[in-house]
Amino acid sequence: MLGPYIVRKRWFTPPVKGFTGIALYPFVFLRRGYSATIMRHELIHVWQVRKVGWLRFYLTYLLDACKYEYRAIPAEVEAYANQHDPAYLPAELEKLVRADPDARGSLT
Ligand SMILES: [Zn+2]
Repeated sequence: MLGPYIVRKRWFTPPVKGFTGIALYPFVFLRRGYSATIMRHELIHVWQVRKVGWLRFYLTYLLDACKYEYRAIPAEVEAYANQHDPAYLPAELEKLVRADPDARGSLT
């Protein structure tokens, strides 16, 4: 399994306006101000990639993005529905949220 490699860069701006994070497997880019919820959301996408492979995931995502509004894209529906649930991700991925100094600050 590759990564995920968490990239936290002040200068990084995800290509879509208004987004604080983006998962481009095996990288997860996070902009300053991200929270545990946003980090978990992106890690859910990492998990989705691991389940079906990156080619199938991104191809499906792109096709879905042509068919649906952003929040109705099935991969996003799953990520938004579970981004607040610390029990959703495999422990190995949730552990990254717990260990992240910036994400940890926003854990309740
Ligand atoms: Zn998402």
